[in-house]
Amino acid sequence: MSRPDVLVVGAGTSGCALAARLADAGREVLLLEAGAVPLGREEWPAEVLDPASLAAAAPGHAANWDLAAEVIPGRAARVPRGRIAGGSSAVNAAVFVRARRADFDAWAAGPLWTYDAVLPAFRRLETDHDFGTSPDHGDDGPVPVRRLPSPSPLADAFAAACAELGLPDEPDKNGESPSGYGRIPFNVDRGVRINAAIAYLAPRRALPNLTVRGGVAVRRVLVEDGRAVGVLTDDGPVHAGEVVLSAGAVGSAYLLLVSGLGPARDLRAAGIEVVADLPGVGSAFSDHPLVYVPYRPDSALPPATAALHGLLHLPLAGSRREVELMPWLRPFAGDAEPAVSVGLQHPVGRGRLSLAPDDPIGPPRLEYGHLGEADDRHGLREGVRTAAALLGSAAFAEVAARSAALPDAVLEDDAVLDAWLLERVTTAVHLSGTAPMGPDSDPGAVVDQHLRVRGVAGLRVVDTSVLPTVPSRGTAATAILLGERAAELMT
Ligand SMILES: Cc1cc2nc3c(=O)[nH]c(=O)nc-3n(C[C@H](O)[C@H](O)[C@H](O)COP(=O)(O)OP(=O)(O)OC[C@H]3O[C@@H](n4cnc5c(N)ncnc54)[C@H](O)[C@@H]3O)c2cc1C
Repeated sequence: MSRPDVLVVGAGTSGCALAARLADAGREVLLLEAGAVPLGREEWPAEVLDPASLAAAAPGHAANWDLAAEVIPGRAARVPRGRIAGGSSAVNAAVFVRARRADFDAWAAGPLWTYDAVLPAFRRLETDHDFGTSPDHGDDGPVPVRRLPSPSPLADAFAAACAELGLPDEPDKNGESPSGYGRIPFNVDRGVRINAAIAYLAPRRALPNLTVRGGVAVRRVLVEDGRAVGVLTDDGPVHAGEVVLSAGAVGSAYLLLVSGLGPARDLRAAGIEVVADLPGVGSAFSDHPLVYVPYRPDSALPPATAALHGLLHLPLAGSRREVELMPWLRPFAGDAEPAVSVGLQHPVGRGRLSLAPDDPIGPPRLEYGHLGEADDRHGLREGVRTAAALLGSAAFAEVAARSAALPDAVLEDDAVLDAWLLERVTTAVHLSGTAPMGPDSDPGAVVDQHLRVRGVAGLRVVDTSVLPTVPSRGTAATAILLGERAAELMT
């Protein structure tokens, strides 16, 4: 392929869906990925295919970018992101839940991005083995979605504990009924985590108009006379009719900044020539603050066949905000204690992605600023108290007990509980909004409804960077939606 119509940077969750659908529509597409691009099933590392394992998200794994970050000021943390075909969908927990209608309403990104406008793409991307024939679902799309039948006694106990506390049922987490307890929709098929590359690229390997190259790190976008004409890689320039950044919420924002597209003052300070002053790049991202509430499992609990065992979304009293609770047998890789994760959806706090002052073209700085807002601390306190109530229920006592790590003295005092939260808070890795979509009237908007970057022609961003704020659910299903919807808008 001498000069592709479209060059997509990043064969991640959005990038695979986008490249595949553009190729289906007859465009010549070149997809460049920094990580490996395994071909047959036998080339994928076993831990990437195993949905019960989060070993590929551990520091040091070749499929993990393993980024340095500050979750709260002064506290360093490592943040995983996928560095392999499939991107973060190859290393994630395989929970496949759509953003809600209320998220699209709140984003108010324009008529192309209402829930009704994107519903056909949500349906097209899935084969829902439980609800596929209902009007809100699809039954012949590339991503298999299944609510695993009761994967463990832990899942049964969590469901019973929710019922004991009188919490509502929400059987279809990808439907539109009110939030509550439900079984987890997983993108898993016969014990394999179906990442975006397996779903979208594998069936198109023979397509002559789709070229996928692994091990190619893009350094920056090449702009000539106000138009993106290609990218610079370690092996030199690659030209294309149009460039799309699908390098993820960190990678795409970083590439915009080093290419001169970002807050002018910061770029000048870093010695980068300004192509377009875009104050919204990296300046106010959002993610879900999350804490793990440990529990002591009954020694009789069988080994995990899934990482996660139930999903509860609970509105906070008097607000549209929610907390998300999930019992884990073992959070992420390594020897972490079993715990119930408590995430705060719709956080008020915002983070910042910027170029490092001492090394502007090195890895970017990620400052999450989690729990800096009193409202967010209040929300997470309520979530932790709900987790403690579930762990203290008669139903849960059958399988596990609350751990001494969360004594009553901590639970009962707001200030002490805040200190406990600040010591433990981490991030749910649902980073969004580093290049937000919005109307012309919004000075913070980086892309328009067609996901075109303002101030430069021939360049789009298609990944969770463009979501104005983090949705009230995990971001994997919405990342695939972004690829599907962008392809529709581009053809
Ligand atoms: C450990 C973990 C667990 C998670 N669990 C869940 C979950 O269970 N459910 C859920 O809904 N969400 C989950 N998420 C979040 C969700 O998976 C991500 O938000 C989503 O997959 C992001 O998709 P994306 O297309 O925006 O970016 P990615 O999928 O991260 O894709 C970006 C791609 O671009 C490539 N890239 C980056 N920079 C360059 C460059 N310069 N040159 C070339 N290529 C580049 C990367 O290697 C990667 O392949 C999890 C995330 C992680 C990391």
